[in-house]
Amino acid sequence: MKVAVLGAGITGVTSAYFLAKKGFEVTVFDRQPLAAEETSFANGGQISVTQAFPWNSPDLPGKLVKWLGRDDAPLVFRLRNDPHMWRWGLKFLLNARRKTFYESAGRVLRLGLHSRDCLHQVIADENIDYDRQARGILKVFNTQEEWDDMAARTQWLNDQGVAQKMLTREECMEAEPALAAATSSFIGGAKSDIDESGDAHSFTLALEAAAKRLGVSFVYNATIDHLTEEAGRVKSVTVNGKPLAFDQYVMSLGSFSYFLGKKLGLHIPIYPVKGYSVTVPIEGTNAAPMMSLTDESQHVVISRFGDRLRAAGTAEMNGYEAAPNKRREDMVLDSVFGLFPHAGNREKAERWCGLRPMSVDSTPIIGKTRFDNLFLNTGHGPLGWTLSCGSADLLSQIMSGEKTNLDIQDYSLDRF
Ligand SMILES: Cc1cc2nc3c(=O)[nH]c(=O)nc-3n(C[C@H](O)[C@H](O)[C@H](O)COP(=O)(O)OP(=O)(O)OC[C@H]3O[C@@H](n4cnc5c(N)ncnc54)[C@H](O)[C@@H]3O)c2cc1C
Repeated sequence: MKVAVLGAGITGVTSAYFLAKKGFEVTVFDRQPLAAEETSFANGGQISVTQAFPWNSPDLPGKLVKWLGRDDAPLVFRLRNDPHMWRWGLKFLLNARRKTFYESAGRVLRLGLHSRDCLHQVIADENIDYDRQARGILKVFNTQEEWDDMAARTQWLNDQGVAQKMLTREECMEAEPALAAATSSFIGGAKSDIDESGDAHSFTLALEAAAKRLGVSFVYNATIDHLTEEAGRVKSVTVNGKPLAFDQYVMSLGSFSYFLGKKLGLHIPIYPVKGYSVTVPIEGTNAAPMMSLTDESQHVVISRFGDRLRAAGTAEMNGYEAAPNKRREDMVLDSVFGLFPHAGNREKAERWCGLRPMSVDSTPIIGKTRFDNLFLNTGHGPLGWTLSCGSADLLSQIMSGEKTNLDIQDYSLDRF
């Protein structure tokens, strides 16, 4: 069975690998010269299963009003004359209800737990080095309101059988001694032991090599224009102007899945949420953290990759342009240096931004479409690294017609 995987970010590469393991003959296409050159290039590195909570939380509408017009807000909605943005934005806000919030959190948590198991299997099978740290994640925050919110989330996680513990400021410093020098005024934290971190870019390139060993072909500098259909099936994919025919197709184009779907008459409710990252050389200091952290007040995650410290975060809904914004990059730098003032060389920080492919209910879209041989694995938003291996495993089970580990309806396009 010949399969075309469209996109070579972490989602496309994991899809190709898991499909090849099941015996599919896979070709991956991407417009970039290498794998993981777009959103999977320099993300926050967290495998954060306990961060399953949707960004469209019940208090988001109120916060958006408070943050309106503030360029330094953690989440910025810049209204544009774009019907796609309005349609998506309205549905995103309609999903910010208590009931849908916990439903989505449950779906993402189940996928996250499965994904962690799948990642561990890949590590065991392929011996991949990607600066992995399995020390858990410490989430810190500055206000009593955030403490109460985190306590409620921690209780919910505990009720689902997932361990997370609230810590005082002093206990946070015991968990991560590098916090002793912090100048930012965090009041406490929550620590989860099951979470991990590692460089998603290194992982994707190493998994691409493993996929090649299984016979997967990767075609780069390959721009996908459209899919053609005939009698309810996809007939071909047009790459660099040439139609190519396969038995089955998988769409993993990140935020751009929306456009390819639209050309085929499919509505895939994904919109880009831009975020920034900085990578700071540690340069021999022992003032950098060993464990991965989240600065909840600033929406910034921090992960150590060997002698580099990666910090990533903030959210901006402002179309598809991945242009840099120094102010927002500096917000990420301020967050990491507020917690770890001597962690590395701020002047030498490498700056980057990427577009999180966010679905309206903050849950990925995996599985069948109304075209018999077209499948989706896309819309992973802020958790594409965390959910990648489990999503690809689920996709490969669906495409093989096997019994799936999780209820596929939870992730299907039909749920919208
Ligand atoms: C600042 C930031 C921090 C993040 N931190 C974390 C984190 O700590 N943990 C976590 O789990 N997740 C994190 N994420 C989210 C994660 O990075 C994404 O969910 C993930 O990278 C999405 O992967 P993808 O393969 O779906 O998309 P992409 O990596 O964007 O891949 C899509 C691919 O499709 C290709 N493509 C698109 N259109 C075309 C076309 N027409 N023709 C050919 N090729 C095309 C692109 O070139 C690209 O390679 C973060 C994201 C950001 C932006």
